[in-house]
Amino acid sequence: MRKEVRKVRVLTIRKLTRHIAKLKAKKGTEDAVLKNHKRAERLLEEIHAMKEIKLDHVTKLALEREINFEIVCKKPAFIRRPPTVICYICGREYGTQSISIHEPQCLKKWHIENDQLPKHLRRPEPKKPEVVSIGAKGYYDLDALNESAWQSAQAQLVPCNICGRTFLPDRLIVHQRSCKPKTPK
Ligand SMILES: [Zn+2]
Ligand SMILES: [Zn+2]
Repeated sequence: MRKEVRKVRVLTIRKLTRHIAKLKAKKGTEDAVLKNHKRAERLLEEIHAMKEIKLDHVTKLALEREINFEIVCKKPAFIRRPPTVICYICGREYGTQSISIHEPQCLKKWHIENDQLPKHLRRPEPKKPEVVSIGAKGYYDLDALNESAWQSAQAQLVPCNICGRTFLPDRLIVHQRSCKPKTPK
């Protein structure tokens, strides 16, 4: 790795680390604190991604004075992300506990929204993906399930017949008010 590249990496890591500390120190409502922790977690993941490129001597030295890299990169247990499940209707992630509450509500909302759409934009009801494979230990394959749930949610999108980008139907209506076909030069 070139020296300049390394230097940029050091600066980025330093910046991210400071940001994490700031986010974690922020006080507020329980909601805000949780949100900031989630943000910090994401930043930490970014640092980790950068660390994949082996932390070399130069980087280490450059950081040492202010930041203990080892501590920063150690994932504290409380921050570990619980497994999440993707909703096959809206494509958002939910905890394993809340997904069962969310799904029926989401489907209800989906029906209300779908019924309000002009006929040509209405979609068939999304189908809940089947549990595809059950592993040796009796757990289902969450990744595979999430993958098909995500695809199911993606299938909810409809393409704009002018520019081809995909949208949720109600968004498409808004989008098409301003989407103009490209005029040839
Ligand atoms: Zn949903
Ligand atoms: Zn368009």
